[in-house]
Amino acid sequence: MKIYNTMSKQKEEFVTIEPGKVRMYVCGPTVYNLIHIGNARPMIFFDTVRRYFEYRGLEVNYVSNFTDVDDKIIKAANEEGVDSSVISERYIEECKKDMASLNIKPATTHPKATLEIDGMIDMISTLVEKGYAYRAEDGTVYYRTRKFKDYGKLSHKDIDELRSGERDLLVTGEDQKEDPLDFVLWKPKKEGEPYWESPWCQGRPGWHIECSVMSRKYLGDRMDIHGGGEDLIFPHHENEIAQSEAATGEEPFARYWMHNAFLNIDSHKMSKSAGNFFTVRDILKKYDPQVLRFFMLSAHYRNPLNFSAELMQNAENGYNRIVNCGEDLDFKLEKAGESPLTGDEEKLLGEAGAFRDDFIRVMDDDLNTADAISAVFELVRFINSNMPEGASKAYLSGLKKLLTELTDVLGLIIFKDREGLSDAGIDSLIEERQQARKEKNFKRADEIRDQLKEMGIVLEDTRDGVRWKRAK
Ligand code: AMP
Ligand code: ZN
Repeated sequence: MKIYNTMSKQKEEFVTIEPGKVRMYVCGPTVYNLIHIGNARPMIFFDTVRRYFEYRGLEVNYVSNFTDVDDKIIKAANEEGVDSSVISERYIEECKKDMASLNIKPATTHPKATLEIDGMIDMISTLVEKGYAYRAEDGTVYYRTRKFKDYGKLSHKDIDELRSGERDLLVTGEDQKEDPLDFVLWKPKKEGEPYWESPWCQGRPGWHIECSVMSRKYLGDRMDIHGGGEDLIFPHHENEIAQSEAATGEEPFARYWMHNAFLNIDSHKMSKSAGNFFTVRDILKKYDPQVLRFFMLSAHYRNPLNFSAELMQNAENGYNRIVNCGEDLDFKLEKAGESPLTGDEEKLLGEAGAFRDDFIRVMDDDLNTADAISAVFELVRFINSNMPEGASKAYLSGLKKLLTELTDVLGLIIFKDREGLSDAGIDSLIEERQQARKEKNFKRADEIRDQLKEMGIVLEDTRDGVRWKRAK
């Protein structure tokens, strides 16, 4: 299997440090608000990466943090007149609810920065001892970027140019720094802020040190994959490398650096600070969560994805196509006899297996979920045209098993219990029935009518078209 590594700017063969096991860390959200659908992109994508590894028989240790101490959290807390932990705990809970709706598996560990302060103080002390960090007069501790010989290796930036570009920082209040690229490891508290005791001053950690410490604690000095959105490459991940490799003496800190491109609106990055965002909660008022998940996976993760009503509509249609196929299968399965698998059916099942091979081939090529969805569509098309009257239970369940196997890897829930079928799913079945009638395919139209009836859906033909309601 190949994975694109931001470090080498190439697809590389994926080889784990420990055979059969993957250790991966994905930077999680800062919790001061409901998560927006931009934040959901890495959550959904990396959850799919994890599911794929598990599908391929690897054991995955998946760590994703919550940044629960930060200026924005403190600001929100001050505005509400509550402790900052009230804000962060509230939004961690809300984030977990959104993750559950989107069928994102909980990580093996979800560390919280505020519970790992001792580890951060330890790592900063090590960096100070080794000469990689220094304390300024007011108690701030900075990382000494000049001392780390490979600084800039991940982001491929011209560090000297950056340095000279930011030289004026040194005369605008940040002149405690030795170098404009030095960054904060520990900062002194300000009035009304949460703080911890430390050898340097009462204060709190900088953001970058949090991830170096939490990833090391739960995954060790080295890990296979470190991921996040591409905005984190510089400075966040660059700084994590500088901290971790200097502190542990081990390199590389992470073997593969994976970054998802942005979710945009009108070609601008969706972000809380720019105010051009939709929360996951907003979107789930209008769409089935599975449609949002489908939408995120419908583009390659390294391509920007533009959010629009039109693309969401496409996603809804695409998702419903798979759901409808699943429902047809279920419907036929209930009626199917116990007759043994025929030779023809066995042959067809063998042919269907080719779509699994396609699916694996494209996922093996840098997790191409867009092409993986195409492989599922091909399977759906195959199933739709190979479900003859009188098909055996064994045959139909073979197809259902394969469809479930592939959609499970993408984390898409296709077979909901009947009670739970979404309104959109019902609408599209009705639409399919209308279409079948138009094409004089009365057999199919009647099948759908029976299927809906069994689900307790009552149809009414009105002058404005077909209406439906759930029978009590
Ligand atoms: P934040 O809460 O801003 O620290 O972001 C948490 C995660 O979401 C990080 O991995 C970010 O890179 C990612 N992220 C934030 N906004 C977007 C966006 N518009 N598109 C894709 N990923 C994003
Ligand atoms: Zn991080």
